[in-house]
Amino acid sequence: MPAKKGSKTAAKNTVQIMKEKAAARAKRAKKAKSSAKKTPAVRAEKNPPRKAADTKLAAAVAAEPRVYGPEKLKHFKELIQGKKKETMEELDSLKESMMDVTTGEYVSESSNYSLHMEQGTDAMEREKTFLFASRGSKFINQLDDALARIETRTYGVCKECGLLVPKERLEAVPTAQTCAEYKNTGMPCERGRVALAQRKAGK
Ligand SMILES: [Zn+2]
Repeated sequence: MPAKKGSKTAAKNTVQIMKEKAAARAKRAKKAKSSAKKTPAVRAEKNPPRKAADTKLAAAVAAEPRVYGPEKLKHFKELIQGKKKETMEELDSLKESMMDVTTGEYVSESSNYSLHMEQGTDAMEREKTFLFASRGSKFINQLDDALARIETRTYGVCKECGLLVPKERLEAVPTAQTCAEYKNTGMPCERGRVALAQRKAGK
C-alpha cells in the first residue's frame, strides 16, 4: 500500500485483523486436532489450505477505509465548487450567445459558434448551443449531488462494491459514483469482488 494519509490507520487495522485471524486459526487448529482423530482424511479434503495471496488480498481489502476523511472531503468539495463555478460561467456565455442568435447580433467574442455562421445555419447553431447548455445544466445538477454526498460523507464510496473510488479518478471525474472498472466493464474489479464477498459474509 502506498504511504498515503490514512495508511497508518489501515496498518493498525491490519494488525488488529491479523491478530484476530491468528486467534481464529489457533481455535480452528485446536478444533481440528480434536476431530482429527476421528476423520483426518475427510477434514483435510474439505479444508484445502487457502492461497497465501488470497488471504493477503482479503486482509488488505478488509483493512481499507470505507469513507474519505474530512481533509480529503474538503479537497474534493473545493474541486467540485471550482468546477461548478466554471460550468456556470460557461452556461452564462452560452445564454449570451443564444440571445445573440435570437436577435441576429453575432458577437464573436462571446460565441465560437458564430464563426462559421452563415445564413441558413442559424437553426443548427441554435440547436447546438441548446445542447451544450442542457449538458452544462445537467453537469451542474450532478455536481450538486456530489456536494450533497460530501455533506453526508458518502462521497467517493463506490455504489457497486462499497470501496473508495480512487482519489485520482475522483479528481478527473468528480461526479463519479463507481470505480472505473465497474463503469467500463459493468463488473467490479478483483478488490471489489473480495469486498462484496466479505460484505455478504457479514464481515
Ligand atoms: Zn467499486
